[in-house]
Parts: sequence; C-alpha cells; structure tokens
Amino acid sequence: MSSNCIFCKIIRGEIPGRKVYEDEDLVVIHDIHPAAPVHLLMVPREHFDNLDTAEDRHLRLLGKMQLLAPRLAREQGATNGYRVVTNNGPDGGQEVYHLHVHVLGGPRPWKRL
Ligand code: AMP
Ligand code: ZN
Repeated sequence: MSSNCIFCKIIRGEIPGRKVYEDEDLVVIHDIHPAAPVHLLMVPREHFDNLDTAEDRHLRLLGKMQLLAPRLAREQGATNGYRVVTNNGPDGGQEVYHLHVHVLGGPRPWKRL
C-alpha cells in the first residue's frame, strides 16, 4: 500500500473507480481517459511500481492478469481483438507507478496506443 498512490486510493475506496471486476488479488476499472472503445486497467491490490520491481512471487498474479484479459475484453464488448499492455518507466510511457495492465479493444481507429 502506498498512501499517495491513486490506484491504492481507488482500491481502498477513497476515490471512485468504475469497477468491472474484483477478487482477492486485483481490481479492474475503466480507464478514466479511454484510448479505445474498451479500455480497462487491471490493478493488483498489492502496490509495486512496475515490472522492474516485480518478484518471483508475483508470477501467479502476472499470469492471472494475462488470462483474465480475454474474458474481460469479451464481456466488455471487445469481440474482435484486443491489446494487453503494461507501460514501464519514463520511456515506456508509464504515468501511474502502481503496476497495471491495460486491456484495449473495440472497433478501430483508436485515439492512441
Ligand atoms: P500508464 O501510462 O500506463 O501509467 O497508465 C495510467 C492510466 O491510468 C492512464 O491511461 C490514465 O488515463 C489512467 N488513470 C489515471 N487516473 C485514473 C483514475 N482516477 N481512474 C481511472 N483511470 C485513471
Ligand atoms: Zn498503489
């Protein structure tokens, strides 16, 4: 947990998030600035910055998010393909330093990556 982290605040219920799924490991919300018709963020309950600070013990969590992506994409209406993206560090375009996985889909064109 990190007191100033926006995703930790959403997970704690201190600021609103449009949740589409949650379980003991993670929360999934709609991105507030969607870059595609379907734009979800899979956010682990545990705070760690990004893949640079992921550890072996996160293997199951990271795999789980990959396997959850197709189900959530389909449920949200991305029935013709989707992207699964994690941004890491400044040159990776990361803005929020709480690891998360973007799921982007829906009819193209999309606004950006
Ligand atoms: P990244 O650039 O990979 O760190 O992505 C951070 C994402 O979080 C961006 O796509 C933002 O639009 C999104 N975001 C920031 N604040 C919020 C929020 N309060 N609720 C939902 N999504 C957010
Ligand atoms: Zn956090």
